[in-house]
Amino acid sequence: MQFQCESCQRELQVVPQAAGRLAKCCYCGQNNVVPGGLPNDLFVVQSCEGRTYGPVAFAVLDQWVTEGRISHDCRIRRQQATHWLAATEFYPQLQPQKRRRSGSPFKPDFVATSFNPYSVPHRGVGLLILSIVGLAVPCGVFSLPALLLAALDLRQIRQNKMDRRGLPWLVSTIIISGIGLAVTIGSVLWTFYW
Ligand SMILES: [Zn+2]
Repeated sequence: MQFQCESCQRELQVVPQAAGRLAKCCYCGQNNVVPGGLPNDLFVVQSCEGRTYGPVAFAVLDQWVTEGRISHDCRIRRQQATHWLAATEFYPQLQPQKRRRSGSPFKPDFVATSFNPYSVPHRGVGLLILSIVGLAVPCGVFSLPALLLAALDLRQIRQNKMDRRGLPWLVSTIIISGIGLAVTIGSVLWTFYW
């Protein structure tokens, strides 16, 4: 079957099994989603830690593989299927390489990257600083936004959409900005009722 490259408009020849998947144009290198894929053909990925991602279309899966986010020890299944298959059955290129001598005793031979398709960085450090500044500044101008943004980030982490390492930073932010807000409210009440 044939389809047109989105970027250079040239006709590309692909096998029918490529429908719905990602294909690199051999003329310009553009990654195209091959038309004609079944819209309900979705896949779920499980990392070696047991966390699951998806369901996503085959093209997204291809994208994750090209970005190095799926390693050989991940498992993949069709959304409707109950059994998992090794990621290497879908992507033989993920097979760990045989020990290749790098020539240097200090270079590792092969490092498998662990799977994390949601690599949105957390904002924990910045928010913690904001909440500490909020202690010094009255009226909660910094404490309130720090508290709200930290709560948003925490939800993102719980939904597996953000870097988990932000967790301790965000919890500290919530505690400190909470204290900042309490002090503000306390001093307002104090001025009104004293
Ligand atoms: Zn092209």
